[in-house]
Amino acid sequence: MHPETLAIHAGRKSDQATGAVTAPIHLSTTFERAADGSFPSGFEYSRDDNPNRRMLETCLAALEGGEEAIVFSSGMAAITAVIESLPPEHPRRLLLPDDMYFGIRSLLNETDLGARFDRAVVDMTDLDAVEAACAAPTGIVWIETPSNPLLKIVDISTVADIAHRAGAVVVVDNTWATPLLQRPFELGADLIVHALTKYIGGHSDLMIGGVVARHAGRHGAALRAAQKHKGAIPSPFECWLALRGMQSLAPRMNAHCSNAMAIAKFLSGHPAVSAVHYPGLPDHPGFGIASEQMTAFGGMLSFEVKGGRAEAMKVAASLKLITRATSLGGTHSLIEHRASVEGPETRAPENLLRLSVGLEHAQDLVADLQEALECIPRPS
Ligand SMILES: *Cc1c(COP(=O)(O)O)cnc(C)c1O
Repeated sequence: MHPETLAIHAGRKSDQATGAVTAPIHLSTTFERAADGSFPSGFEYSRDDNPNRRMLETCLAALEGGEEAIVFSSGMAAITAVIESLPPEHPRRLLLPDDMYFGIRSLLNETDLGARFDRAVVDMTDLDAVEAACAAPTGIVWIETPSNPLLKIVDISTVADIAHRAGAVVVVDNTWATPLLQRPFELGADLIVHALTKYIGGHSDLMIGGVVARHAGRHGAALRAAQKHKGAIPSPFECWLALRGMQSLAPRMNAHCSNAMAIAKFLSGHPAVSAVHYPGLPDHPGFGIASEQMTAFGGMLSFEVKGGRAEAMKVAASLKLITRATSLGGTHSLIEHRASVEGPETRAPENLLRLSVGLEHAQDLVADLQEALECIPRPS
C-alpha cells in the first residue's frame, strides 16, 4: 500500500468494543490478568506497552518500511536513546554533520553523554571529507537532510555506503522530509529518527519522538529496553494526537511544499535578499541530489537578508502574519533568527532567517514578506 493510505490505516482498526472508527484513548496504566495469570490483551502495564502507543508505533514502522518503531517523550529523548543504546561492539565515536539540529550539539556539550562519545564533525556534502573521517573507527554516522538551518542536502546512499564499509551504524533524522518525501531505508539507513513534534504531529501542540529500525536487531532491542526501563515514554493522549496528525500528513506536506516553493521563488528575486536556501531551487547546490532522493523539497527554507543581524531582526519584527517563534512543521508559518537562538557556537549566518512555511495561502505569506522586506533600504 502507498504511504498516503498507510498513514490513515496502518496499526488501527475500528474499536472492537464499541465500533468507534477513531480509536479511544486508553488512559488505564494497568491491564487485567486472566484466571491463569496471563495477559490476554497483550498489555500489562502502560510503561511497557499501551494500545495507543502500539498503534502509533505500528503505523510509523509501516510508513518508513522498518521492522519496528519505538517512540519516546520527545525527539531529543529518541535521539538520546539511539546514541546511548549503541551496541557495545561499536566504537564510541560519532560522525556528525556540520549543519544539524542544534539540540544535538547541546546534548553532547551540556550532558554527560558528550563525555562518553568522541565526536568528529564534517561537511557531509563533501564525500572525500566523509571518507577521511570514516578512516578512524566510527560507531554512528549521523545524517540530517535537508539540514537545519542551511538546508544542505546529503547524498544518503553514498554516505551510507562509506559508513557501512567502516562498520558504522547509519542514522537519518527524517524529521524535515517526513516519510512522504524521503525514504531513508531504501537508501541504506539502519535507523531513522523523528521529532514527531513537527510535521507528523503537524499542529504545534504535542512533543513526541520516535526511532524506526530497519531490522529489529540488537540496536532495536536495546532501544525497546531503554523505552521500557528508562521510562521516557509519551502519554497515550500524545500518541493519539500524533496518529491523528499522521492521518492528514500527506495532503499537508503537499501544501507545505507548494507554499515553500512559491515563497522561495519570490525571495530569490527580491533585491533585499542576498541568498535563499531551498533545495527546490535549481541553483541550490543540493538540487540534483534532492531531485533524486526526495519526491518534493519540503516546507522549510532559510534566507539571508542584505545586511547583518540588525537587518534580519528588523525583517522578522516587521512581519504581521508570519509569527516570530521557534519550531516548525505546524499550520502557522513561523520565522526565527537562528544565530541568536543557538548562541555563540552557532554556524548560522547573522543575517539568516529560517522559515517554517505553514498552510496559509501562499499569496498572503508572500505579501507579508514583501511588506516586511520594505524595511531594508534599496541601493539607489
Ligand atoms: C525539533 C527537532 C528535533 C528535536 O525534537 P524535540 O521533539 O523538540 O525534542 C530533532 N531533530 C530535528 C531535525 C528537529 O527539527
